[in-house]
Amino acid sequence: MPDSKTKYIFVTGGVTSSLGKGIISASLAKLLQARGYSVTIQKLDPYINVDPGTLNPYEHGECYVTEDGAETDLDSGHYERYLDTKTSQANNVTTGRIYQHVINKEREGAFLGKTVQVIPHITDEIKRRVRLLGRTGKYDIVITEIGGTVGDIESLPYIEAVRQLKWDPEFSCIVIHLTLVPFLAASGELKTKPTQHSVKQLLESGVQADVLVLRTEHNINDEIKRKVALFCNISPEAVIESKNASTIYEVPVMMQDEGLDRVVLNKLDLPLREEPEINEWKSFLTRLKNPKQSITIGLIGKYIELKDSYISIHESLIHAGAVHQTSVKIKWIHSETIHADNVAEEFKDLDGVLVAPGFGERGIEGKISAVKYARENKIPFFGICLGMQCAVIEFARNKVNLTNAHTTEIDENTEDPVIFLMEGQKELTNKGGTMRLGAYECQIEADTLAHKAYGSELITERHRHRFEFNNKYLEGFEAAGMHATGVNPTGKMVEIVEIDDHPWFVGVQFHPEYSSTVLNPHPLFVDFLAASIKEKK
Ligand code: GLN
Repeated sequence: MPDSKTKYIFVTGGVTSSLGKGIISASLAKLLQARGYSVTIQKLDPYINVDPGTLNPYEHGECYVTEDGAETDLDSGHYERYLDTKTSQANNVTTGRIYQHVINKEREGAFLGKTVQVIPHITDEIKRRVRLLGRTGKYDIVITEIGGTVGDIESLPYIEAVRQLKWDPEFSCIVIHLTLVPFLAASGELKTKPTQHSVKQLLESGVQADVLVLRTEHNINDEIKRKVALFCNISPEAVIESKNASTIYEVPVMMQDEGLDRVVLNKLDLPLREEPEINEWKSFLTRLKNPKQSITIGLIGKYIELKDSYISIHESLIHAGAVHQTSVKIKWIHSETIHADNVAEEFKDLDGVLVAPGFGERGIEGKISAVKYARENKIPFFGICLGMQCAVIEFARNKVNLTNAHTTEIDENTEDPVIFLMEGQKELTNKGGTMRLGAYECQIEADTLAHKAYGSELITERHRHRFEFNNKYLEGFEAAGMHATGVNPTGKMVEIVEIDDHPWFVGVQFHPEYSSTVLNPHPLFVDFLAASIKEKK
């Protein structure tokens, strides 16, 4: 099948991991979008998990959920936050998924007796996945980020697929390679040798990079750029500096100054069109970098040693903070360390309390203590998913007189299962991809905090959970002052809870953090911060 007119950009990384391929990809996509191109970004992850849904957040950080219910890499979150367009299952592919597909086909006899091999069968499946987004006909440009570092054994089939595609006359693509240029303090020099080796390593696999993005802590002068160009078979204007930024949201502006979008379009043989206008983006940056005031939000979770576990919440707080031109300091509080005796001391400087999503028993009583303190002391409170469930448990125990109330996730035989396993989850034995995932509707009651925030009675939000509010207890909760202010219109599952007599107390069963973007900050985060600013001591 011939390809559509879609052009492809592969983004690879060398020298070290964590160079920020996701941010560079998203920033480039933003600039191309601003020039009038429709762009999407895809991530190929070289691990054998079928998706990141079964991964502990300590491994690769947060699992990001798309509207169509795919559990994906956290980079998908950056793509949506930068581009303000939705990603889907097709935007995140893992080695596990590729192999699963090929092996299933083998079992069906689809290979007609042939020996199934990495080349061509695995590489063909990789190429098919890369082309899928282009073939939707929706995109002028598809950016495909290849996870891992060039030279890793696990990324070899991906690099081989890129090599084959570069030689395919039906396929038009370029390769952007990110490397690190370290600064040696002893000699006071920036060193380009790791970059040269990394480009050579890529070349050994048959792939010549077209553009180099050099990550650095110091300015890279023209002489260094010329040297890198000479040794790496790259034109000098295609050697791009990417210096450390004070915020990831500055990177599109820095890449625009460096001309990354222009170089890329020239290499892809596409017209430059109009100079990108990213004024709204720049005004967000101005508000972000010139705060008029500052507030402190306590983020209570059990994975705080790896901040990436809560990256979408972190970014949502930044987006919402910029709306109020307020700097949001996050105090990361480990849920395992919080209990009734120290919560007052730990929370004394907090203007708002956010209890994070999570799974399992570790730290749950700390989260419940956090809710109790925020409720009783009228500190603005935002509970997300497990955070909302903790709010329900706390309220049951202390206001509805159900002293032993719990979630059956933690105590299967609790006397009062105020949170329990959803219908449809009971028979499941497989862990991967079996939660209630993706976007569902929620009907909001008028004259509530949620209604005020959304300004709408019917909303859609993304989910990732197995347990839910037990409607058997709803009447007792309503009588005691906790209200279900948002409910799923078909299944009647409770989606939002609020309480009486509190400046701002909202618990949501869904994940608003997945849909906050730079240009469209999430209304619940915006209002949570508005309340925190108002109540600030
Ligand atoms: N563990 C809870 C559930 O499965 C909450 C999940 C979450 O916080 N994402 O319902």
